[in-house]
Amino acid sequence: SVKTDSWKQRKIHLDEIERYMQSDRDFIDDAALTRAIAANRNPDSLRIREIIAKSLAIETLNIDEAAALLNVSDPELLDEMEAAAGQIKRKVYDNRIVTFAPLYLSNYCVNNCRYCGFRLENKKIRRMTLSMDEIRRETEVLCGDIGHKRLIVVYGEHPVSDIDYMVESIRTIYDVAVPARQGIGRIRRVNVNAAPLCVEDLKRLHAVGIGTFQVFQETYHHATYARLHPADTIKGNYRWRLYCMHRAFDAGVDDFGIGALFGLADWRFEVLGLLAHTHELERAVGIGPHTISFPRLEPAKNTPFLQDSRLRVAEADFRKAVTVLRLAVPYTGMILTARESAETRRALLPLGITQVDASSRIGVGAYANPAVDNSQDNRQQFVLGDLRSLEEVIRELAEEGTITSFCTAGYRCGRTGKRIMDLLRSGKEGKFCKLNAVLTFREWLDDFAAPETASAAEPVIQKEIKEIEQEQPGMVKTFKEYYRRIADGERD
Ligand code: SAM
Ligand code: SF4
Repeated sequence: SVKTDSWKQRKIHLDEIERYMQSDRDFIDDAALTRAIAANRNPDSLRIREIIAKSLAIETLNIDEAAALLNVSDPELLDEMEAAAGQIKRKVYDNRIVTFAPLYLSNYCVNNCRYCGFRLENKKIRRMTLSMDEIRRETEVLCGDIGHKRLIVVYGEHPVSDIDYMVESIRTIYDVAVPARQGIGRIRRVNVNAAPLCVEDLKRLHAVGIGTFQVFQETYHHATYARLHPADTIKGNYRWRLYCMHRAFDAGVDDFGIGALFGLADWRFEVLGLLAHTHELERAVGIGPHTISFPRLEPAKNTPFLQDSRLRVAEADFRKAVTVLRLAVPYTGMILTARESAETRRALLPLGITQVDASSRIGVGAYANPAVDNSQDNRQQFVLGDLRSLEEVIRELAEEGTITSFCTAGYRCGRTGKRIMDLLRSGKEGKFCKLNAVLTFREWLDDFAAPETASAAEPVIQKEIKEIEQEQPGMVKTFKEYYRRIADGERD
């Protein structure tokens, strides 16, 4: 259509790229990252242990240090790295996991990423954009039936889901309130996964109250990026994407979600790319990423790119990538999505994952319409690997002593960007949030849990309360007062 064509040629705001460039080169130096991998082969154990100690002190690693970790093959050292990754997670985030759900709002897209089912050339996909009524219905299921408090909304890049639509859809989600047993189901934090935007549009997202703004670079490797994202599409501009978090910061959004799609280029290169991106954000705006994502490429309907892909990341390599990322950026949140199987997610969780999705449905409109089949529907982007419900995931986590936190207070009290980053680095956030984690978990259990989940969770809650009594005696009185009020039906 005419509208699509003009959108395709939409001017990238070149001034908004140049403003952030320090020279005529961007901050990803492919040759330097590749050299670092080669130059740090066969690291000795003493050096690896020194690097691990630096991570345990919650310091961001440099490229050579991360490259050395990527080159470790000695099983004993790998075990030490994994143990340290788990320790860092507990030090920074305590024994908590945050859960969320993806909400796909539109699968129209003007781009042609060769790996994605939503690409413009894919004529076999059923295109849909949800109306505000449909978004309301999806949200009612998510917060009223399932009990989610956090969403990540996902949009293709297209005039039908332009900034006006984004703002209206997010507002609609925040407006939904559904009675839930003793309380009210509401979405408290909407994170956004969308195309890179200009500063003006990002200001509007900030004004509507988004949580994290998430854009994955897909691949940091310039030549691979150019091969997979045709130059005549908006996404073909590597730098427009690379500098979008700089623009977000200028627009007031300071929770950045970065990521790479693993399976497009060498996985070691992508780990270093994510680290180089972190360094640049720390340098340029003083805040590293709030979260890092590392989705692995999944088969997408009518998307032949995958069939010749030899870059699929094997389980052992993926495990190492997650471990090294945890060690390299110790303060960041790490997201492992339901693209992965339940088995893989169980295995990787102890390496420092902080967020997982559950009860996920990625067909557009699939939450309110059970007829949309989660495994093979033709309006979804790819096929999910873990179809467990939120309740199942929570029960399993509780059985292992992990608490599921539904707290969104940090963001609502202005603890974002640098403020949250400083608390995380100092290890204070872990303790501070324990109280809110227990209170919000109690709420969820009372409002949504089946009796067997509630009883699986009880020992965790009791253990957490004991720890609060021991570690934060000054807070016990206030905590107990809130706990009693929740039991009486009051809600956050
Ligand atoms: N259109 C926006 C963009 O490209 O940034 C946001 C939505 S896009 C659906 C969200 C993410 O899905 C992409 O950034 C990409 O990493 C991921 N993705 C695309 N195709 C995929 C596939 N076949 N398997 C796994 N993840 C995929
Ligand atoms: Fe469009 Fe994003 Fe899919 Fe690329 S990855 S085709 S931009 S939805």
